[in-house]
Amino acid sequence: MSETLSRSPQAFHVMAKPTGAKCNLKCDYCFFLKKESLYPNSNFRMSDDLMEAYIRQTVEGHRVPQVTISWQGGEPTLMGLDFFRRTIEVEEKFARPRVRIENTLQTNGVLLDEEWCRFLHDNHFLVGLSLDGPRPLHDAFRHDKGGKSVFDKVIRASRLMQKHKVEFNILCTVHVANSRRPLEVYRFFRDELGARYVQLIPIVERANETGYQEGTEVTDRTVDPEQYGRFLIAIFDEWVRRDVGRMFVTFFDAVLASYLRGASTICVLSPTCGESVALEHGGDLYSCDHYVEPRYLLGNIQERSIRELVASEKQRRFGLDKSATLPRYCRECKFLFTCYGECPKNRLLTTADGEPGLNWLCKGLQAFFKHVDRPMRIMADLLRSGQYADAIMNILAEEEGRSFPGKEKIGRNDPCPCGSGLKFKKCHGGD
Ligand code: SF4
Ligand code: SF4
Repeated sequence: MSETLSRSPQAFHVMAKPTGAKCNLKCDYCFFLKKESLYPNSNFRMSDDLMEAYIRQTVEGHRVPQVTISWQGGEPTLMGLDFFRRTIEVEEKFARPRVRIENTLQTNGVLLDEEWCRFLHDNHFLVGLSLDGPRPLHDAFRHDKGGKSVFDKVIRASRLMQKHKVEFNILCTVHVANSRRPLEVYRFFRDELGARYVQLIPIVERANETGYQEGTEVTDRTVDPEQYGRFLIAIFDEWVRRDVGRMFVTFFDAVLASYLRGASTICVLSPTCGESVALEHGGDLYSCDHYVEPRYLLGNIQERSIRELVASEKQRRFGLDKSATLPRYCRECKFLFTCYGECPKNRLLTTADGEPGLNWLCKGLQAFFKHVDRPMRIMADLLRSGQYADAIMNILAEEEGRSFPGKEKIGRNDPCPCGSGLKFKKCHGGD
């Protein structure tokens, strides 16, 4: 085995873009649309040969029993359902004993119909549906090429997926419009759509024509950092009092994982990058979905395998740079263990002492981490002692003198539900 391959990770995540940057919508904040210019004269369709190479190399490149085949865009459903039927045949061809292959699809939902939903259900796809909140908030920046609303089509897609029992999560970008209405957004997903899984993705958009990560100016769609903190806090406060174990907000779970195991579950809250790469429709592999630009091209998977490219020195350096470029302000931050300076693409600011590399979202992130520190510690204690994290809802209700439906009241002298063995009053109950 070559030296490069010997240090390749056990697992990696490839976001494949079978239509490249091609999409049937024209959302104002889409960083990908500008990247059509990377491939002039392309038909923006992944060939079956390349699709097969992607699946084979991903299955063969993993050293763990679970492999994810991931499709996103642009808009991957533009490839048509038959393309995805063929992906399942290819997966069957390369399946290995005791290795589970999971499929994920990120979509704007516009093309999803009964037939699509039957297919997605039958093949256990996990679907990410892009939706920014109730109609006016969704329509603020997301629309078709003629500027018309697609809200009704997206809602129809979510209803169809529910009808066909397709597993899906909501991917909500957080921008200047919806960040001011956190509870409206969260309750809409929970109460109107019946969603249980929500991903919140902050929009930090550089103001330039290339769509590349260059320049330090941001567009006016970009979320204000302090408002982002207030947005997260408002949703967290509702979630931690009534929805733990029923609603899953990826960012909250990822922070809890840092408290529990010292390692987060998402790249933006991890110390290094590098294991999540982006595959273009013609086989070019890039360092990350947010860095599909010439400087970050690793190679083409028709010439070198994905595993080899992920293990390359160029990608290793890209991954390590996340920590290596942190300013002292971050290195000395008490929340470094869970934040790690968040995503490098958002590091646009200069610290008070003149160091570059501070995250645009820092003020909001700090406020959020400070606010959730105690409840996160309590939930981590609960889980460590074999309890469910949802006992926190009972603990907080007790402290705040509220009743919590369906839960027995904890007496001050009862054992604390966190499993410490102490009386509630001596532990999370307060004395
Ligand atoms: S650059 Fe950002 S999105 Fe890409 S791997 Fe690193 S943290 Fe994740
Ligand atoms: S909260 Fe701010 S200072 Fe702390 S690690 Fe994150 S970005 Fe850096």
